[in-house]
Amino acid sequence: MTVKVENSLEYLEQVMEETQQYQDLGVMASYIPELLKADPKAFSLCYADVNGSIVSVGSTDQTFTLQSVSKVITFGMAIQTHGKEQVFKYVGTENGGMPFDDIRNISEKVVNPMVNAGAIAVAGLLHEHYGSRVSGLIAEEVKKLAGVDQVCHDMDVYYSELATATKNKAIAHYLYHMGLLPGQVEEVLETYILQCALLGDTQLLAKIGATLANGGVRADGVRVWSRDTVEVVVAVMANCGMYDHSGDYMARVGIPSKSGVSGCLMGVAPGKGGVSSYAPNLNEFGNSLRGTLALESLSKKMGLNIFIP
Ligand code: GLU
Repeated sequence: MTVKVENSLEYLEQVMEETQQYQDLGVMASYIPELLKADPKAFSLCYADVNGSIVSVGSTDQTFTLQSVSKVITFGMAIQTHGKEQVFKYVGTENGGMPFDDIRNISEKVVNPMVNAGAIAVAGLLHEHYGSRVSGLIAEEVKKLAGVDQVCHDMDVYYSELATATKNKAIAHYLYHMGLLPGQVEEVLETYILQCALLGDTQLLAKIGATLANGGVRADGVRVWSRDTVEVVVAVMANCGMYDHSGDYMARVGIPSKSGVSGCLMGVAPGKGGVSSYAPNLNEFGNSLRGTLALESLSKKMGLNIFIP
């Protein structure tokens, strides 16, 4: 089935309307107190095709922190800098079926780079490689993947998470104990929390998704990541990007995706485009409740499911 881009605005509008009934279901993440300031009814949905056409509906100017969507970017960066075999010594590709912030995701290595422990291990690799330039370079990578001139951090969210990150602190110290963090535990944790505080909107995420959907080449023809990197990153998104809901999500939606606890979602439909949503209320797995339903419906309407020819 080919993607009906010409009708896509209509589809996005339909999806926004049909999922409005779910806007009060779910709860916002409260363990990062600053996230509770979001408007629970905010919603936006965006689709960017691999050729650079982009359509969006809802509160499209609404910004949010990327949170765990940033794990996709840092995982890809680590593969680019270290090579996948080296990265796979620290993080695997299996879905452990455990919550995203569970310390049991760590054994000889971390189950995958999409859970907190895996992303902190990846932040350790990047921190060791780039030193104090690391956070600036992560932001640069976001800009390059999306083809935008500017991104910034929400420092209120950063400090809010830093002050309450007891679980992630425990995870980081345990990673160090297991030989999966090079040292400088506090600095690595700050790097990780700062990457989670990167600010964006659904257009930014859909554009990044489109670059990945195009094998690492932006709509303007610039190659940002190698095909090999994209292949691994998108596969891990498919298997692990929606945490311990990834299997059910893939069976329903069929789009490799990554969620962020702020309520954002980024999906990659290879060869077709990138899709994204924002709705801050979350389901029990920590994924956007309305966003998940919106992508399920949009996937069907636009033929984005990777399992359906
Ligand atoms: N900053 C969040 C954390 O580390 C990210 C989690 C998420 O977005 O799912 O807990």
